[in-house]
Amino acid sequence: MTDLQLDDFKTDENAAMVLLVDDQAMIGEAVRRGLSNEENIDFHFCADPYQAVAHAVRIKPTVILQDLVMPGLDGLSLVREYRNHPATKDIPIIVLSTKEDPLIKSAAFAAGANDYLVKLPDNIELVARIRYHSRSYMTLLQRDAAYRALRVSQQQLLDTNLVLQRLMNSDGLTGLSNRRHFDEYMELEWRRSLREQSQLSLLMIDVDYFKTYNDTFGHLEGDEALRRVAAAIRDASARPSDLPARYGGEEFALVLPNTSQGGARLVAEKLRMTIEALKIPHISPTEGSSLTVSIGLSTVTPAAGSHCRELISAADKGLYLAKKNGRNQVGIG
Ligand code: GH3
Ligand code: MG
Ligand code: MG
Repeated sequence: MTDLQLDDFKTDENAAMVLLVDDQAMIGEAVRRGLSNEENIDFHFCADPYQAVAHAVRIKPTVILQDLVMPGLDGLSLVREYRNHPATKDIPIIVLSTKEDPLIKSAAFAAGANDYLVKLPDNIELVARIRYHSRSYMTLLQRDAAYRALRVSQQQLLDTNLVLQRLMNSDGLTGLSNRRHFDEYMELEWRRSLREQSQLSLLMIDVDYFKTYNDTFGHLEGDEALRRVAAAIRDASARPSDLPARYGGEEFALVLPNTSQGGARLVAEKLRMTIEALKIPHISPTEGSSLTVSIGLSTVTPAAGSHCRELISAADKGLYLAKKNGRNQVGIG
């Protein structure tokens, strides 16, 4: 039987596959005859105890009938071997003994047998026990498979949630954090700075003359320019706690926790120069210009009862000053 057929066979929980391990061919024949009229019971016989475990691994029985007394090899040590092999450790084992002896019986159960029958058992009893053990083994296999499937789908759910979280937090055009995530992050960092009484800086970055850029080169070129500006802002965020975000339209923000005004100013100035050095052609303010940004900057150590809106509006004020004073510069609010 191929593995595929075997798997089909095993999906029927009423089906049983019996492996009898006994050195006496006569016993094999008797059991075979007893089971031959039973529907859904497949019978295999192994007369060589040294081949028993390999045989069981190969055919994957749902019940093993194991003779106790065989030449050269003790049936109980075979029971232990089945129990120690990963492929056979859970297969029900019915031990076949020549006599009803409490000592042998308890040794058999201690070795890992599930049941004990005296040879040759009445056929009705043998079939009933085979069916009972086989069905409980099938239920065990099904339960294990269900748990495995559950673990796989739980992991898939976790992975999907991570992807969703990332999508929910990021801006589709630039891949930076979106406004939603920026708002959340600002609240968090504001509270942390309040607790630790540390300095929190914010840059608001606005592309200069961007309406003209769109009007001149088209929206697709405009989008590409925004992506390049966004990449420069991402590169400007050196620390893991720095958060670059798209605030909206052609405005960006960079949150700089634990950063003094002097430090923020350096970051802002460097970023302004980096974008200018991209030399993205523009026609404003004059023909032959390059695309530039204006940056507003503010730094606070939050006081109790204050709100992060204050930092945003101060940075906005700095941006307004930068625009008013001629653009392509950093203003402090
Ligand atoms: P200023 O120097 O004063 O900032 O002038 P500006 O033209 O940059 O400012 P304004 O606010 O008048 O124009 C912003 C423009 O940005 C208008 C809008 O078409 C463009 N814009 C906003 N979001 C997007 C976008 O996602 N893609 C593109 N291509 N353009 C956008
Ligand atoms: Mg604007
Ligand atoms: Mg602008």
